[in-house]
Amino acid sequence: MSNNKYKILVIEDEANIRSFMDTILESNGYQPLSASTCAEGKLMFSSHRPDLVILDLGLPDADGTEFIRFARQTSTAAIIVLSARSTEDDKIKALDLGANDYITKPFGTGELLARVRASLRSSRHSSQSGALPGGKFSVGEMDIDYDQRKVTINGIDIHLTQTEYNIVALLSEHAGKMMTYNTIIQEIWGAADTGSIKRLQVNMANIRKKLGSKPGKQKYIYNELGVGYRMISEDKPDE
Ligand code: CA
Repeated sequence: MSNNKYKILVIEDEANIRSFMDTILESNGYQPLSASTCAEGKLMFSSHRPDLVILDLGLPDADGTEFIRFARQTSTAAIIVLSARSTEDDKIKALDLGANDYITKPFGTGELLARVRASLRSSRHSSQSGALPGGKFSVGEMDIDYDQRKVTINGIDIHLTQTEYNIVALLSEHAGKMMTYNTIIQEIWGAADTGSIKRLQVNMANIRKKLGSKPGKQKYIYNELGVGYRMISEDKPDE
């Protein structure tokens, strides 16, 4: 049987959520696989090499972050974490360990599919851009020319400071991926100090204004309060 569908491994101990995901993923053209424990998830991951993993953090035999550590030793496959609303620290930890994004339970079909598409695209994008020095990025009306370090919207130059440009370029290189405050700070300034988050937020407020965001209306860059920022990866806003 020829099969070029994306393989998606769902690691989740609640049977009703597993079967809900199975149905949705299959009817949207993906090939779902499932596991109900961390140990089973590792086995499935090693034998099937899925393109994407949807991972519940609360598994019966181990913490889901244990799976992320395991997977990241050998693979850059996209990982979306499922978490309960109350566990912000767990989400941040999972993202810092290499998860691409997270979904908070309960979630709807539209949100799940949008995150799946964005994560598959971001893992493809980062494996390509890693191999290409320079190049270009484009989403909506925004274009980034990495060689010239230039950002334009509708062809008009957006004047960014060096730091602002570095932040925009970083987010674009990981478009579709939720990047935590901590990860961005490490990449831009090298090390964190007490003023880092404030400095990032000030820069980000200026960037979003320059890119045309209005209060309450996010454009190009989404802010998840207390977690981090994500640049959109497709023309249609995915949420
Ligand atoms: Ca669970």
